[in-house]
Amino acid sequence: MTGNAPSPAPARAARRIVRSAEELVGDTPLMEVRLPGVPESARLLAKLEMFNPLSNVKDRPALYMMREAERSGVLAPEGGTVIECSSGSTGISIAALSAQRGHRCIIVMPDNATEERRQILREFGAEIVLVPHQDGLLPAWRYAEELQRSIPGSWLAHQDENPANLRAHYETTGPEIWEATGGDVDVLVCGVGTGGTLMGVARYLKERRDVHVVAVEPARSAILSGGEAGPHGIPGIGAGYVSDIMDLELIDEVVAVPDDAAADTTHEVNRATGLLAGISSGAAAYAARLLAQRERWAGSTIVTVFPDTGERYLSMARDQA
Ligand code: PMP
Repeated sequence: MTGNAPSPAPARAARRIVRSAEELVGDTPLMEVRLPGVPESARLLAKLEMFNPLSNVKDRPALYMMREAERSGVLAPEGGTVIECSSGSTGISIAALSAQRGHRCIIVMPDNATEERRQILREFGAEIVLVPHQDGLLPAWRYAEELQRSIPGSWLAHQDENPANLRAHYETTGPEIWEATGGDVDVLVCGVGTGGTLMGVARYLKERRDVHVVAVEPARSAILSGGEAGPHGIPGIGAGYVSDIMDLELIDEVVAVPDDAAADTTHEVNRATGLLAGISSGAAAYAARLLAQRERWAGSTIVTVFPDTGERYLSMARDQA
């Protein structure tokens, strides 16, 4: 080692001993992303949620929802049954927390969820119920509710109507972005699944300054843009309905992203940054770049969220073949 060589940046929590993976949830880095086509005048920052222990933004709400259920007594501290309906990510976080506590865990998810997601769920001992993806998540929710009624003492996390989902982002993701930027945020660009991330972060930021909030959805299921719900190729966003935790008043603009634009931008992001981000990150980056190219946002800071790792999608081309 030469004397002046810069040492690698310390990893989060590297200077202490943690006693549980739960301590590793949140406190993710914000990275300046130099993407081709983003003008020099704009600063594009991405919140890297793949740094959570299960490599996904949903670790935050899963932990909040589980702790709230334990606190309120609807879920016994151990040996209960936990049910959730999920495109896969929340299911994984919930399954990990359940495994640790000795709960039985049942995840209802669309049948186009990637093989990687199923493997991870099985690793945590979760039972998987697959439902047809063409119908969107609404029928899956009805099924999960029936299941919950039929299993005494079971708890359905219900991320799309559970206020702890949004609160996780209001109390952690939002403040982390605010602190890392010193409050220098002009635009927030964020994909919408349940809307928990967008709603929690937007509410926190808008209480502090006038931030332009942009929701990102798949063009093939562009319901926030007034279109029809439908099957699409951007896992994690575009659930096909507006969840109960959404407050449309907080959204200033909606960008609908075509499937191939999301996939192409994901490759661009990964090659430009050396990260391995998932497809909904590419969708968010596509929309963020559109905003960055506008005259109005010259000299501005645009913050977006990269929800997960690309490792969960590597089989997708094969799955769809
Ligand atoms: N991207 C991915 C990969 C996801 O799994 C999710 C959550 N379903 C989202 C984005 C959207 O997050 P939220 O539910 O907070 O809107």
